[in-house]
Amino acid sequence: MRKKRYLLILLAAVLALLAGCGTQDSISAPLPTPSPVSTPAATPTPTPEPTPEPDPYADVTGYRAENTERYAAYAEQNPDLAAQQVVSYVNIGLDRPFYTEVETIADPDHLLVLCNKYHQLPDGYEPADLVAISSAYCNGGKNLYLRAEAAAAFEQLCAGAAAEGYTILGQSGYRSYSYQEQLYNNYVARDGQAAADTYSARPGFSEHQTGLAMDICNGILSYTDFGQTAEYTWAKEHLAEYGFVLHYLPGTEQITGYMTEEWHIRYVGVETAQEIDRLGITLDEYCASYLN
Ligand SMILES: [Zn+2]
Repeated sequence: MRKKRYLLILLAAVLALLAGCGTQDSISAPLPTPSPVSTPAATPTPTPEPTPEPDPYADVTGYRAENTERYAAYAEQNPDLAAQQVVSYVNIGLDRPFYTEVETIADPDHLLVLCNKYHQLPDGYEPADLVAISSAYCNGGKNLYLRAEAAAAFEQLCAGAAAEGYTILGQSGYRSYSYQEQLYNNYVARDGQAAADTYSARPGFSEHQTGLAMDICNGILSYTDFGQTAEYTWAKEHLAEYGFVLHYLPGTEQITGYMTEEWHIRYVGVETAQEIDRLGITLDEYCASYLN
């Protein structure tokens, strides 16, 4: 405050001097005497130790110190994102293009395995506990398989839907690496790789290879129209009770890397499914920020 006042006074003095340059008697007001010259020099306040900038993401769920710079860069490019989204998306790897810096999944048998465009199943992975789904719950009597726990939950889901007058049937369950490879290559040949990548996983990257994912239908419409059915409305409300989540929900294309698939469900267990529902996030975000 004092410094500012002094500067103002000094400025006034200089202006007055300039105005009256050579005509001393035209100055009507006496020049103010600058006072600070005589005031004793203020004891210099010790400069505080430079404290590091607080990391604005440090309190966000899933924060990882090693990602600090990536959070800042990603937030700058995406100023509309909330802090939680910045942390989760960077943790997923979304600040880098899909299929870059891919990690091989260390524990592919874990029920919460995340198989996406940054996490690949180990070469030749096949779950050891695949079991056949009752043909009553497979569209057209197909032979479909899931891992034991997911298979039991899936049959309960279908039975639960039936008890309320809805039909839920499996359309596609476990897929081997080689089968996914055929599918993907056919899609690439038909639509080109860029388009195929929006709806089909590259071999080794398909959640179907984990034995925990199922595409479902109502036995009348094509599975790709499941989102139009009354069964879909029922499923959205009840899937979590059976331990399933919808992995590729509308509006999450940029997070999962796949177009919306209302027909693709993934087993994670009841507790986790309900938690993911409560949080209203994708499995990818959950695994990236909410699991230890
Ligand atoms: Zn699927």
